[in-house]
Amino acid sequence: MATLAVEVVYRGIFQKTLARNIVRHIVFAARKDGKIGTAFGRYGDSPERNGIPAKQFAIVADTPLELEESMAVYEASSVDVTINVDDTMCKGIESWAWYGLQPINELTKPGGTLIVTSRQDAASLIEDIHQKDTPYNLAIIPSTVSFSGLWVYKDDHTDMRALGALCKVCPELVSLEAMLKSIKEQTDSDAKVSSVQRAHDRTTSRPVEPGEGNSETPFSFDLPGWKTMEEGLVIRGLPAGTGFRGGEEGYTPGRSEVFKKWSTRSMRPVINFDTCIKCTLCWLQCPDTCFDVTSDGLYDANMESCCGCGVCEAVCPVPDCVTMVSETEFTGNDSQWDAWTADKDGYNKWMTVLVEKQKDETRTHGFHHVGAYADDISAMEDA
Ligand code: SF4
Ligand code: SF4
Repeated sequence: MATLAVEVVYRGIFQKTLARNIVRHIVFAARKDGKIGTAFGRYGDSPERNGIPAKQFAIVADTPLELEESMAVYEASSVDVTINVDDTMCKGIESWAWYGLQPINELTKPGGTLIVTSRQDAASLIEDIHQKDTPYNLAIIPSTVSFSGLWVYKDDHTDMRALGALCKVCPELVSLEAMLKSIKEQTDSDAKVSSVQRAHDRTTSRPVEPGEGNSETPFSFDLPGWKTMEEGLVIRGLPAGTGFRGGEEGYTPGRSEVFKKWSTRSMRPVINFDTCIKCTLCWLQCPDTCFDVTSDGLYDANMESCCGCGVCEAVCPVPDCVTMVSETEFTGNDSQWDAWTADKDGYNKWMTVLVEKQKDETRTHGFHHVGAYADDISAMEDA
């Protein structure tokens, strides 16, 4: 066998424990198959931040020597299986350890498998996933994306389902039998063992052919080389802002041309410009200075800067004027204000559908309005 590698791509902090559980259980289970392995996070991703894409790895080998050889290269340059635990990262990831946008399947080997937790079908996911020159397989774990926090872990068995799916798509890495034994031993939970088994039995994968998928060229930029760096530590300030998109009215703040934050977010704000009372709170409170002040005094969130924190939604005093909507609903980063000014009726219909749909679906994190948490708790107590 030589050496096999798995990467788990996750959103920093929100999914840190989930990713760690997956890679550690792979190594524990591989030992039951008589193999040896190691699990580790990527140094460049630490310390993790909320929502920033990050990676953990599990490497499994037949012998200690083979494992040592593979560890001589610090980070795997290709993997047999990529596990993506948030489907919004299918659009690509930009972590602390990468400059520009990295396709989610960048490291997946020819013939390897990308496993994604998602409520979407394969066709929708493939629309977002960048094309490769070589074939690979796509397997979906049908589930709502699991988000937790720094101090809490939502033990909803997403880790177990990922492990069951892994045993199905790559049995040469770890057998189902070994995984079941190891999970029983590590957790003493029959429910978790059963989750692994069920995910294994239900997982199917679909081949993705070369050239299938998103054809966009991922955003990238060149870092200065040693010889082109300026002497000393020079951090250039951003240029001052100007009027709205270069005009004389409104205001567009200066923004970094190379640091884009959009791969950080799993949700984005959708604005109802008709009900906005121009109170300025979203503009003042946004931690990333995302809002352009438009020439008519409204506030347009710039989707290349928005990290999806949801603060604007929380502070907006007008019901449903700002609603966080899952990134899976969008394909581009175009201005909502431009769309609204071009066709107000069309924009409002599109927005209403999205907002209503969002209310019906389970949010991965955050709350729609101040007091939503208390409402949820009392609804649970009444149930
Ligand atoms: S979600 Fe709202 S407050 Fe947060 S970064 Fe985006 S625009 Fe700013
Ligand atoms: S917080 Fe809401 S009402 Fe106030 S300016 Fe922003 S979008 Fe408009």
